[in-house]
Formats: sequence, C-alpha cells, structure tokens
Amino acid sequence: MSDRSRPSGARIIAVANQKGGVGKTTTAINLSASIADMGKKVLLVDLDPQGNASTGLGIDAAQRSMSTYDLIFEEAQVDEVVLSTEIEGLSIIPATTDLSSADIELYTKEKRLFLLRDALRATDLDKYGFDYIFIDCPPSLNLLTVNALVAADSVLVPLQSEFFALEGLSQLMLTIREVRETANTALRIEGVVLTMYDARNNLSRQVEADARENLGDLVYRTVIPRNVRLSEAPSFAMPVLKYDSASLGARAYINLAREVVKNSARLAA
Ligand code: ATP
Ligand code: MG
Repeated sequence: MSDRSRPSGARIIAVANQKGGVGKTTTAINLSASIADMGKKVLLVDLDPQGNASTGLGIDAAQRSMSTYDLIFEEAQVDEVVLSTEIEGLSIIPATTDLSSADIELYTKEKRLFLLRDALRATDLDKYGFDYIFIDCPPSLNLLTVNALVAADSVLVPLQSEFFALEGLSQLMLTIREVRETANTALRIEGVVLTMYDARNNLSRQVEADARENLGDLVYRTVIPRNVRLSEAPSFAMPVLKYDSASLGARAYINLAREVVKNSARLAA
C-alpha cells in the first residue's frame, strides 16, 4: 500500500452523507463486521453524537467512559478509547453525547480541521495492525464531518434510493472538493452505495440508473436492499451477519465488503 508517511498502514474510510437516515450507520456497522469476517482487522470510529454505531454493536453506556470526544479533545491515548466488540477482528471507538458540543468547541481550536487526523496518526494505533478504519459521520457537513474527511484516505457515500438523493450529493461533492483543495489533497471517493433499494419500485430503479449514469464506476455493483433484518439487528446489538446471516441484507453487505476490499486495494496501489 503506497502510504502518506503515516505510522499506521490502515486505510481510513469516512462513511458520509449530510442527509439524515440514508444508511450511513447501517453501512458502517455491517461493512465493518463483514470485512472483519473476511479476516481483516477493522476499527469503527463512531463520530456521531447520536452514538448509533456504538449502540448497534452492543456498547452500553457504562462502557463508554472514554469516547471519540476524549480522543479528539482530551488527548486520550488510543488504548484508553478502543474497545473490542463481540465480532472477532472488529474494534470500536464509541461516541457519547459529549460530541454534540464538539462542533462549537472545534471552532475555537487553531488546528480545528486536523484534530481527528492527528489523533488517528498517533503511533500507538500501529500495534493494533488495523487494515481498515471506518468513520461513521453525523448527518451534517459540520466540522466533525470535515475532521473525518481530513483524516480519511477516502469517502464512502451511502445513497438512499429515493427522490432527491442525487441533489444532496452535489453538496457533499463540493465539500469533498474543498477539503481536497485545502487540508487533504489525497482524499479520494471510495465509492457510492445505493441503500434501501427496492427492485420492485420504479423510483429505486430510476435513482440507480441516474447514479450509474452520473457517477459511473464510483457506484458499487452491489446494492443494499431494503430489508427488515437490517433494521432489526441494531436492537439486538448485533451486525446483521450475526443476527441473521442468511438474510438478503447480510448477503448484500458481504458482497459489498468483497467489492470494497478489492476496490480499495486498487485505489491504494
Ligand atoms: P443518521 O443520519 O441519523 O445518522 P444514518 O444515515 O446513519 O442516519 P441509518 O441509521 O443507518 O442511517 O438508517 C436509518 C434507518 O433506516 C434506521 O432505522 C435503519 O435501521 C434503517 N435502515 C437502514 N438501511 C436499511 C435497509 N437497507 N433496509 C431497511 N432498513 C434500513
Ligand atoms: Mg447514523
């Protein structure tokens, strides 16, 4: 992997879309778990004050004494914030509601764009040997999300298969371009994944056709179907792979994981 003089060899992928409820967290959890299931070492950084990724992986409040907030603002050591999960090979840095004030706090910091990047480059991350670090972003293009884009090698965008999906994307693309022109020239688009896809619905098919026409190869072949098992799994504190490995949702994320791993090797080369 050709790397920017960074101690850790992990590929850092921000899962971002400023639109709420499009499947960022579902994708972050299930893609992380499916890639871990392929034998890779994966860290999921929960950067959303809602903490849905942490809850969905069974990290209860009592375990969240240290969180992403401490990593960014309190110079916590990675050892203090990384927790293992029930899934072999998958670790998480959980989020707490502390993060809800982060955006305002970041404005007062001189290195406001670089705090997460610098924290993740800390050498003590090395010993974990992570292959992938996914960052679950909040539904906003605020400074927290910008921190993720500055820290990341690439952005993976979940796109809900519904009307206006592509309109929202242009705003995100502009932000990505700005970050690329300023704080992180190496930032790439990892890929765009269609979520909550319903093949029987004309609208889903139309959004898919538009996305493939406009974005070409950036759109993964795999689409994530609307699948009730995917929405149930977090309430059992499990990725879908553990909750119902035979479900269509689980199979889709396994296919996406294979595509992401194959693709990211090419992007990093
Ligand atoms: P937010 O912007 O609030 O962080 P998000 O983009 O992270 O939201 P999710 O939390 O992943 O979105 O998904 C929103 C809701 O849709 C959740 O209730 C989730 O369980 C459900 N959901 C996501 N993907 C699917 C799917 N493929 N099939 C069925 N339900 C889904
Ligand atoms: Mg979310």
